[in-house]
Amino acid sequence: MKTIVALGAGLAAMPLIRQTMRNVVLPSDSYKLVVVAPNTHMLFPLAMPRVLVPGAMSEDKVLLPVSSQFSEYPSDKFQFLQGTAESLTPESNQLSVKSVDGNMTELSYDYLIIATGSSSRDNTPWKTLGTTEKTKERLFEIRNEVEQAKTIVIAGGGATGTETAGEFGFEYAQSGKKAVYFVYNDELPLVADMIPKVRRQAKLELERQKVKLIPNSKVTKVTTASGKETVLEITDKSGKTNELKAGAYISATGVIPNASFAPASMLDAGGFIKQTTTLQAEGHDNIFVAGDVGSLEISKAMVAAAQTDHLVKYLPGHILGGEAIATYTPDTKNVYAITLGRSKATGQMNGWKLPGFIVSRVKRNFFSEQAPDMAKGKKTSSTTFEK
Ligand SMILES: Cc1cc2nc3c(=O)[nH]c(=O)nc-3n(C[C@H](O)[C@H](O)[C@H](O)COP(=O)(O)OP(=O)(O)OC[C@H]3O[C@@H](n4cnc5c(N)ncnc54)[C@H](O)[C@@H]3O)c2cc1C
Repeated sequence: MKTIVALGAGLAAMPLIRQTMRNVVLPSDSYKLVVVAPNTHMLFPLAMPRVLVPGAMSEDKVLLPVSSQFSEYPSDKFQFLQGTAESLTPESNQLSVKSVDGNMTELSYDYLIIATGSSSRDNTPWKTLGTTEKTKERLFEIRNEVEQAKTIVIAGGGATGTETAGEFGFEYAQSGKKAVYFVYNDELPLVADMIPKVRRQAKLELERQKVKLIPNSKVTKVTTASGKETVLEITDKSGKTNELKAGAYISATGVIPNASFAPASMLDAGGFIKQTTTLQAEGHDNIFVAGDVGSLEISKAMVAAAQTDHLVKYLPGHILGGEAIATYTPDTKNVYAITLGRSKATGQMNGWKLPGFIVSRVKRNFFSEQAPDMAKGKKTSSTTFEK
């Protein structure tokens, strides 16, 4: 019996697991699949900016049980090990896994699929914070702080921070219920590879919702004391510091790849797994890499979907028939869809600004209606494999 091990239970892993079960493992007598992940529920990160707002969107929309897929498979062909990969020895096809109860397990694999994604730099549940219980606990804590707060400060000018400022602006600032501040380290919100027109639009919509913008600045010190407001030191580009008190402080300073279990030789300078254009780990043909953890493209759900689609298409022929995996073409359209509260949005594609009302309509629920079928592994954001 040959063993395929899949690491992760996120947007890239869940469709890869199901489609590998359907197309490789179940039709053959020679394979079994072992999934390793710490979470019992797939987290759908896209809608987290709204889920953080108390009463705006239930956590059940973004935390979908992995059992909705895994309970279907026979136990002699499938195993779910709730834990994290701790070390990988690709020369001997060995993995050490720490289960959530602290026990270590050694696993041997014939094929390894790495879809371990990335983690939030902050203790904010933008991504899963280890187990689903820990993720929920922190989510409820933040919502509680928000409910009590008079002042909410959001820091980090990327897409996540900007969308979150829009959600809190819509809910609290425009009506004057609570003050909402948005701290970001550039002249405009959003990232430098987005077109200035789109970034200007984001700024305008946030201003219209009465979000107080603090551009060209960073939060440089956070002081918390139980039962008291969080004190933030904010430093602008000239080095001048100011103090701001926050009843709720929400940090959105980006993600880091979950690849520390892999040997340094497999990683690039940013800590991503070096990924070839056939989505294999460089120098290790029996290791496949998809999603945020790979080095080939930026961390985006659309990228994770495109890479997953490619592996779903080519892995069965490769594993069962020794066929080569076709070359994958990275995305160049540079699409962004940015919500700015519940009725406004902006976005871009191929260097053109998209009409805000179209983006707002398409992304009105952050695509969360697709999450259950993604957790079941029946689709990615770009392809439906099963109705
Ligand atoms: C708030 C937010 C909003 C976003 N909005 C958008 C958007 O609008 N459009 C867009 O294109 N992209 C968006 N993204 C990016 C998108 O969410 C990611 O690109 C996507 O989640 C990547 O999927 P993934 O499966 O590679 O990784 P993840 O979703 O990070 O899943 C990784 C999985 O691996 C598991 N894991 C981690 N470490 C280990 C280990 N050592 N061993 C085993 N398992 C492990 C995790 O528990 C998880 O199950 C957003 C991201 C955030 C944070």
